[in-house]
Amino acid sequence: MQAARLHEYTDEMSEGLSIDDVDRPTVEGPTDVIVEVEGAGWCQTDNHIIEGMWAEYVPQPLPMTLGHENAGTVVGTGAEVDLVAEGDPVICHPVQTCGTCRPCRLGETMYCENDAFNGLTTDGGFAEYLHTSERSVIPLPAGVEPIDIAPHADAGITAYHAAKKAISDLNPGDHAVVIGVGGLGHIGLQCLDAMSAARITAVDLKDSALELADGYGADHLINPSEADVRAELDGITDGKGAAQVLDFVGADVTTEYAPDITAAGGDHHIIGYGGHIHEPAQALVNGEFSFVGNIVGRYAELQELVSLVEQDDVDLHTSRFDLGEINMVAEKLERREIDGRAVITP
Ligand code: NAD
Ligand code: ZN
Repeated sequence: MQAARLHEYTDEMSEGLSIDDVDRPTVEGPTDVIVEVEGAGWCQTDNHIIEGMWAEYVPQPLPMTLGHENAGTVVGTGAEVDLVAEGDPVICHPVQTCGTCRPCRLGETMYCENDAFNGLTTDGGFAEYLHTSERSVIPLPAGVEPIDIAPHADAGITAYHAAKKAISDLNPGDHAVVIGVGGLGHIGLQCLDAMSAARITAVDLKDSALELADGYGADHLINPSEADVRAELDGITDGKGAAQVLDFVGADVTTEYAPDITAAGGDHHIIGYGGHIHEPAQALVNGEFSFVGNIVGRYAELQELVSLVEQDDVDLHTSRFDLGEINMVAEKLERREIDGRAVITP
C-alpha cells in the first residue's frame, strides 16, 4: 500500500514526506483493529514533527508514516474484538492505551504508561490502512461519515478537551478568548459556544479565519495586525479581562498577552506550541492567573465530541487533498493558506 513517510527531520516542507510502497498492516494481536483510512487530517503538529520538534520528547522510529487524525472503515479485527466488526465506520483516537496502568484505570488516556501514538511514535494514517486497537476506535453513529469527521480525532478532541476545562470556570457574563481560529481553533470556538454562555472574542491574523469565527459563534473579532489586542479586550471586558483564554497559537507574542488580557483567577490555556512563556513570577501572583497545559484529550472526550457532532453543534470547515499532494498541504499550512482543516484522502 502507499504511505506518506518521514525519513529524516527537515525544515523544508516541500520534501518533508515521501510516498513509499509499504506492507499493509495485518492483525497480529487479539485486540488489533485494521482500518481502511478514508480521511486523515493534516495538523500543524505534522509540520512540527517533520521539523524534529518532538524528537526530544518521544521515541520516533524513522521512517514512520505520519497522520494522527484518522477515520475510516474497519477491515480486520483480532479474535477478541467485540466493539466493532468488519465494515463498521469508526473514528480513531490517536493513542493506543494499555488499559491496565493506573492512568488508564482513571480514564486518563493521555497519561498511559504503555502507549503508542499513531503518526507520532508509531505508523499513522497517511496511508491506505491503519493499525490500531479496539481501545482506540469509536463506532460512528448513523449518518456521520468517516471522511467528514476525521479531523475530530485530534484537532477536535484537543480543542474539546481545552474547552471542557474552560467551561467549568465560565459563568454567564464572563468572557472567553480564542487565539488562532485554524484547524483546532475553529472547533474550540464552537465547543465553547455550544457549552457555555460566555461571550467569546476570536483573535486571528487572517481575515478569512475571522470570517469563519463570525459564523461559528464569536461575539467579537480582533485582527492583531490591525488592532491592539490588549486595548480591544480591555474595552470588550470592561477592564476585567477574560476568565478563560484558549491559545491555539502558543507563540511568544500570544503567551505574552496573558498578564494583560486574563481576568484575576483566570486561565490561559496553552494548546498551540512553538514559543515560550517568559512572565515575571510576580505577574502570576498579582493576577493569580494560571498557564494551563493541554495534550490532546481522553477517549471518553472523543465520544462526547462525536455526540456534539451528531446533534449538529460542531461543524468542520474542510478541504480535501490526495495523498500525493501531501507536501503541498504542509507548505500551504505553513504559509497560512488553509482555512479550517485540510483532509488527506489516502
Ligand atoms: P492552523 O495553522 O490550522 O491554525 C493556526 C491559526 O492561528 C491560523 O488561523 C493562523 O492564522 C493563526 N495565527 C498564527 N499566528 C497568530 C498570531 N500571532 N495571532 C493570532 N492568530 C495567529 O494550526 P492547527 O493545526 O490548528 O494547530 C494549532 C497549534 O496547536 C499548533 O501549534 C499545533 O501544533 C498545536 N496542536 C496542539 C495539540 C495539543 O495536544 N496541545 C494537538 C494538535 C495541535
Ligand atoms: Zn495504560
